[in-house]
Amino acid sequence: MPELDTALRRRPKKILDLANLQDLFSVLSARGYQLAGPTVREGAIVYDRLASVQDLPVGWSDEQDGGTYRLRRRDDDAIFGFAVGPHSWKKFLLPPVTTLWRAKRSDNGFKVIDKPEKALRYAFIGVRSCELHAIAIQDRVFLKGPYTDTVYLTRREDVFMVAANCGHAGGACFCVSMETGPRATSGFDLALTEVLASERHYFLLEVGTERGAEVLAEVQHREATAEEEQAADSVVARTATRMARTMDTTDIKDLLYRNREHPRWDDVADRCLTCGNCTMVCPTCFCTTVEDITDLKGEEAQRVWKWDSCFTMDFSYIHGGSIRASPKSRYRQWMTHKLATWIDQFGTSGCVGCGRCITWCPVAIDITEEVRAIRASEGNAASDAGGADERGKKI
Ligand code: SF4
Ligand code: SF4
Repeated sequence: MPELDTALRRRPKKILDLANLQDLFSVLSARGYQLAGPTVREGAIVYDRLASVQDLPVGWSDEQDGGTYRLRRRDDDAIFGFAVGPHSWKKFLLPPVTTLWRAKRSDNGFKVIDKPEKALRYAFIGVRSCELHAIAIQDRVFLKGPYTDTVYLTRREDVFMVAANCGHAGGACFCVSMETGPRATSGFDLALTEVLASERHYFLLEVGTERGAEVLAEVQHREATAEEEQAADSVVARTATRMARTMDTTDIKDLLYRNREHPRWDDVADRCLTCGNCTMVCPTCFCTTVEDITDLKGEEAQRVWKWDSCFTMDFSYIHGGSIRASPKSRYRQWMTHKLATWIDQFGTSGCVGCGRCITWCPVAIDITEEVRAIRASEGNAASDAGGADERGKKI
């Protein structure tokens, strides 16, 4: 995981023409990377393995709001003209199910078959700034505590990151409030900004690491002009003004600690289905469980590591019962962990403002609205009044 090289970032930006994007893919493939990135599948833009530029969501965008996601056709051929969808990169770095070991019955009992799953060497294409922040948070959780998680490390250590600065703010985005976007500032090898202007379609490229410079050297490109840099800057600046939502994070840790008995927790519990969708789609949620499975004949057993959710009763089950038996206690635990106790635990917020938990909540519970309601009850509503989005909706 090479650190961002500030000297490299000061170098002039580069231009990659659309026609040469496939060359970048080919160079990465030739270096042994499996490409992964956005593609259209089953009515959504998801992350999956990519074979070529043709697999990218050319000309697609999305409409998102609380509990709502729709694909829509753009009136241009933008490749990265959409906001984050239901998948995050954690599906590659921390897969939903991982086999830790398998064992077979033998004459002398069980024999453990040591077969760690082989991790692919990925190049992630089109990583958004909020997602780079989310990956940095999971790096801290899995790699920088007292124990290093080897399952995560083997997947994470050699990933080549191609970031995409955002040219489209989704209907649930609030990365500006969380200071995590829309421009990628760390954690990438190459960062691109897609520009469509006056019949031209190109990418402004910023090099983040020596490894990124080496890859780019093998792809046809040229130095950017001042006008091209300015055009790319305005794409990202415009996105920043179009955030659909805001969250006032002033003093948020103490705000939530002060309000652990607030009536709003009962209100949200009346709406919450405790389905766990918000935790599945969240790029920073990392709760897991371990299960032992045996086949029906008792010949083979395996231990698997799986995503879990703090919204289930079982998650906090200790002999005799569940610690968080009510939906109220589970929602409060989740939101307070994201925005308050996470800061004590890891020195950063657990929320990067991607908006996935808002879009994919079946009953449209909105974390920004829940914070706003609690803050407003303390008489600070004015400081969290938000603005108007591009559709003029009060936010
Ligand atoms: S907040 Fe929404 S997504 Fe999360 S558990 Fe409750 S109903 Fe499900
Ligand atoms: S809590 Fe919601 S908005 Fe924040 S990072 Fe998780 S999914 Fe994104």
